[in-house]
Amino acid sequence: MASPLIGISGAGIGGMAAAIALRKLGLESVLFEQAPKFARVGADINLTPNAVLALDGLGMGVGAELRKTAARPTHRISRMWDTGEETSRLEMANAAEERYGAPQLTIHRADLLSALEQAVPASTLHMGKRTVNISEGADGITVAFEDGTSQRVDVLVGADGIHSTVRKYLLGDEYPDFTGVVAYRAVVPAAKLEGVPNLGAFTKWWGPIPETQIVTFPLNLGRDIFIFATIPQDSWRHESWTMPGSVEELRSLYADFHPEARALLDACDEVLKSALYVRDPLPSWSRGNVTLLGDACHPMMPFMAQGAGMAIEDAVVLARQLAALPEQPAEALTRYESARRERTAKIQLGSRGNNWLKDGGNADWVYEYNSWTVPLA
Ligand code: FAD
Repeated sequence: MASPLIGISGAGIGGMAAAIALRKLGLESVLFEQAPKFARVGADINLTPNAVLALDGLGMGVGAELRKTAARPTHRISRMWDTGEETSRLEMANAAEERYGAPQLTIHRADLLSALEQAVPASTLHMGKRTVNISEGADGITVAFEDGTSQRVDVLVGADGIHSTVRKYLLGDEYPDFTGVVAYRAVVPAAKLEGVPNLGAFTKWWGPIPETQIVTFPLNLGRDIFIFATIPQDSWRHESWTMPGSVEELRSLYADFHPEARALLDACDEVLKSALYVRDPLPSWSRGNVTLLGDACHPMMPFMAQGAGMAIEDAVVLARQLAALPEQPAEALTRYESARRERTAKIQLGSRGNNWLKDGGNADWVYEYNSWTVPLA
């Protein structure tokens, strides 16, 4: 097999990053997305320097496109929910760029997808192709789609999110765990928040218990402020990215928070509400010529803001391994998994606790990882 045909199921952040990284390294892929077209769903994606390093390395104008709408948080600030006391303040923006080679960028998920989509050749991306069945035979892997069509590939990458069909093919039926925590997401024009301090920063209001918090950061070059609030709520289990919540409920749940935090919630006109689901780290996520990346293998709580970053890092390391061993794809996938398992598991578990950088501390082991240069062995 000179150059394997690589099929990627799922054109989310990780799937598209993988297609672009593979192309950069001289390998072709076919990318199958269930949605008929991309919609402006979701809100924020917080890209820490490690994720931006990976995205910038893709080339094809991705980095420049991101910077057309992304905001660059000035600081990472921790404050106490009741007194408002600042318990830590890390400089980001230029300081992060000097230290890690890339800044932190905060962007609407749709703008990140659009920056990636522009770099994926049209002939690679196939929309409206929902993977429903996978079979392996002497002539390779056959991926069957809901519309009755199918595609033969040599390698299959499941980049199809937390409910991955490719994962189910590899591991059988197993379901994500409800964490007992719900998240509210809202976007408010910065102009409505006049007088509220630190709007250019990533600010985390730490609540009375670890799962209760409010995070805010700028989006859309600072024109909007994103608000992300989490709290335990066992009775509510809808996982949707589009389901509206109640702003009155949101305000009442955080009524004891500091007035500056409450001012943010008072400015919300609408809010999305979703239950948070996770899975435990996997001992292995590849078999033969089939593997997984991103949320398909290591979905995590949002408390370290690494879900998208880990998917993008996976994509780059996977592409590098396949480019290094194009004639031995199964070995390349094993090496990809070994290179990624420890880091992703550590971040998956660390994200559960919600104490990341609470009292300052050193973020280097997460932020300085460069997926383009990290040793492959
Ligand atoms: P995902 O981004 O989940 O991408 C998976 C892709 O696979 C999706 O495009 C999905 O449609 C596709 N897919 C699923 N099943 C199949 C199938 N059987 N066949 C073909 N394609 C399939 N995170 C945030 O922090 N903030 C947000 O606002 C936010 N909004 C989101 C909105 C949506 C619609 C989705 C799907 C995810 C959202 N996320 C959000 C999650 C975040 O994007 C991911 O956690 C992270 O980026 C990991 O990316 P991923 O590529 O592994 O998975």
